[in-house]
Amino acid sequence: MKREFSYVNTVHNPEPDYTKPLLELTEEQKAQLYKRLKFIYGKEKADEYLPELERILKVYYAHKPDELKEREKNFIPEERFTQKDIILITYGDLIMGDEETPLKALEKFCDSYLEGEISTIHILPFFPYSSDRGFSVIDFTTVDPRLGTWDDIEELEKKYQLMFDGVFNHVSSKSRWFQEFLNGNKRYLEYFISFKSPDDITPEQRKLIFRPRTSDILSKYHSINGPVYVWTTFSNDQIDLNYKNPEVLMRVIEILLFYVRHGASIIRLDAVTYLWAEPGTSCIHLDQTHEIVKLFRDVFKIVAPWVALITETNVPHKENISYFGNGNDEAQMVYNFALPPLVLYTFYKEDATAISDWAETLKLKSKTNTFFNFLDSHDGIGLMAVKDILPEEEIDLIIERAKKHGGIISYRAVAGGGKEPYEINITWFSALNDENDKSEDIAFQVKRFVASRIIALVLAGVPGIYLHSMIGTQNDIQAVLETKSNRAINRTVVSYEAIMNALKDPLSKVSRISREFGRLVKIRSRERAFHPNGEQKIIKLSPKIFSVLRKSPEGDETILALVNISRDICKLEIPIKDFGGEYWKDLVSEMEWMADEDGKIYLKIMPYDVVWLKEMK
Ligand code: BGC
Repeated sequence: MKREFSYVNTVHNPEPDYTKPLLELTEEQKAQLYKRLKFIYGKEKADEYLPELERILKVYYAHKPDELKEREKNFIPEERFTQKDIILITYGDLIMGDEETPLKALEKFCDSYLEGEISTIHILPFFPYSSDRGFSVIDFTTVDPRLGTWDDIEELEKKYQLMFDGVFNHVSSKSRWFQEFLNGNKRYLEYFISFKSPDDITPEQRKLIFRPRTSDILSKYHSINGPVYVWTTFSNDQIDLNYKNPEVLMRVIEILLFYVRHGASIIRLDAVTYLWAEPGTSCIHLDQTHEIVKLFRDVFKIVAPWVALITETNVPHKENISYFGNGNDEAQMVYNFALPPLVLYTFYKEDATAISDWAETLKLKSKTNTFFNFLDSHDGIGLMAVKDILPEEEIDLIIERAKKHGGIISYRAVAGGGKEPYEINITWFSALNDENDKSEDIAFQVKRFVASRIIALVLAGVPGIYLHSMIGTQNDIQAVLETKSNRAINRTVVSYEAIMNALKDPLSKVSRISREFGRLVKIRSRERAFHPNGEQKIIKLSPKIFSVLRKSPEGDETILALVNISRDICKLEIPIKDFGGEYWKDLVSEMEWMADEDGKIYLKIMPYDVVWLKEMK
């Protein structure tokens, strides 16, 4: 089935056209939106704010090009993501080139790397910000001039699907909203969660709050009305928004739709875990938080059905997957936070048992949601998601080994004082490969690195790859020392020219990764058996081999994907007739196999080799 809907060229008209018929909500759509508002705010506020929400949708719709209204009729929700999707995660200024803007340098890199196999670019927050490398937004609707312009973003969008960050849990202390709050502007006094005294939060209430940082949940500021203590989940520069104020929700929905008008076809709900805060609770995953995400989904279903929501919640796996809702009413995609630490654990132990047992539990509730199978990002490797999967001593094993590879541990405060490891700050190449181990040559280390990435390609979902994993960057300790930020270890700015020069040398690490990983990505993107909605079955042939049977949604194509996650040669006796017919072809080596009279084939898989056996009809 070819994809009917093109996810590029979705930029809307810059001005609304009120000469055209306005959006008219059906009674059912109004009732749905009203139901969400009533759950969150009660009847009175729902009555008051439904008209405002309708107005916001009408304004958005008046910007929508007629061509897009036509095109969206071809949109097939079950085809929102296919095997052709792979998401590059990057800052807008991670590539330094001689282009006039960093965003133009990024475009040049994407056009020339991995043979254009990247379908989607997740540009990390590219707005003016005051800290946290973009996640403390000063102005949601402006492109940081240091990165470029909206025109640069819209140029990228002509070729690549774009994923924007909705950093809506908090705003910068330098934002106009917060400055007006400090100035006593009554319109903004309820935009934030504020207290007259830090003692307004009792010690018992503090103990219950799940903290992702070691900083205090309250930060003191001096306002025109005297000292005030505001809720700050992440840092004293990131001021949590008060969603108990419906005004805040309305403004955020406006910004969401503004991003869609500028070409966003996936919106990453940053730190959505913490959206609704309620002293006396853990302040995470509260019902109102889920209802707000469901309201966003309802809004997009009505006015922009091709836009997908992805939630980013670095929490125990079972809590993480709660953001799928019932499979059709919340996020289309969820960060598969358990995957990175489990892949690391698998390669450290050279044993695929734990990841295979876990992968067997991955059941998706519908054909309109799937996992974002990332391994690394601009953050560290999160450890929260494996707390309900691996015993503590095994998590400690991951930590100790990663530290030997130069990793740094970042912590979070735990109830009753003390702290626990929250993430491992390290690059993925360094996490997999000990740079000091001179017994291994670069070819071997690249093989191990590529083998680890393949697990994210073969598991059902959409693979993500952080730019530094495209080029195998190693830890940047100097940056950590200079910035005193652990996360600087994997956020080095790289030169476009240096990458292109490295690509000219076929034996360089960059060339090896680009060639070996790029080849597999290319093969994957044409195989419908890797479609996110295809059937998935974990096959346990050997602890040294991670293997998964994938089928196309139509059930007519089958691939048995095998990855040797060890440095050992692995001999396998595969009852291949249990999975399909007698003729199979390895898409990676191009070798062909026929089952013997017992219905078996016998493979010898070299260390960190990858085999994709496709059933030949
Ligand atoms: C982002 C982090 C950021 C935090 C607060 C996370 O989702 O990935 O980089 O520090 O949210 O915005």
